[in-house]
Amino acid sequence: MKTHFVPRVNQLDSIQLDSEIKNLLRQQIQNILQCLPPGLLSHLQPEINFVLNSALWNFSIPRSYATFGQQMLSIAYEKDQLPPVKLAMHYLLTTFLPYAKESCQFRLTSWSLLQKMLTLVENALVLFNLLNFFKFLKTGKQPSLVDCLLRINYRSLDGAKRRNIGYSYMTRELIWAGFMELLGFTVPLINYHSLKRKLRNFLRLEPNRQSVERVELTPDSKCAYCNERVILPHHMGCSHVFCYYCLKGNQLADAGFECNICDYRSDTFKRVIVL
Ligand SMILES: [Zn+2]
Ligand SMILES: [Zn+2]
Repeated sequence: MKTHFVPRVNQLDSIQLDSEIKNLLRQQIQNILQCLPPGLLSHLQPEINFVLNSALWNFSIPRSYATFGQQMLSIAYEKDQLPPVKLAMHYLLTTFLPYAKESCQFRLTSWSLLQKMLTLVENALVLFNLLNFFKFLKTGKQPSLVDCLLRINYRSLDGAKRRNIGYSYMTRELIWAGFMELLGFTVPLINYHSLKRKLRNFLRLEPNRQSVERVELTPDSKCAYCNERVILPHHMGCSHVFCYYCLKGNQLADAGFECNICDYRSDTFKRVIVL
């Protein structure tokens, strides 16, 4: 019995893979349906999903006693635990009942009692799934509720071979994670405002600094920093207007902040008074 051991992680991954495969195909069908006139097949959504799920079920479980996700991980259901009756039950529980539920939710929206019942059943299923998950963690068998109801176990097709883990990828991931952490720590320490100013001063050889007493503010005035309409107009002594937050923020971040346009420098600023 030990040779048929299937690690819990493989069992959970097979369920995950199954749902990924389903989503992938559903997405492809959606892409195809987008080419058709809108509304032509949208009312058949539950049927389309049902046909897709039925096809997936039909091509996997009756043939090889394993879903596609399980086949990818070399696991399968115990063959002798799946007689035709249980197979039919499996189909009913995994494919037909979800279709019936989806169809009811899609079509019978005015039947409030039925909708309430469905919500109740859905909530109960979530609870039972959770309980079954705890049971699965303890015993390592029957990860899904359907498996538990039908009492079918998984077995490994290639003996008790454990999954190979590529440590080279793991190391690479670790290096990248470390690098990102380093960047995340150092980037906020760099004062971009001051760097930008120094670079601008370096490139502009002849600064044009002049102080003025009054600043002209017209309805078209734009902030010298963000080049948008000025919000709470302020100036630092030159003839250019700044938003309060642009100016205050820059002066807080960079002690030597200079006007973007004329390189006038001041530590203080005043409100622009409209006369
Ligand atoms: Zn601004
Ligand atoms: Zn200026």
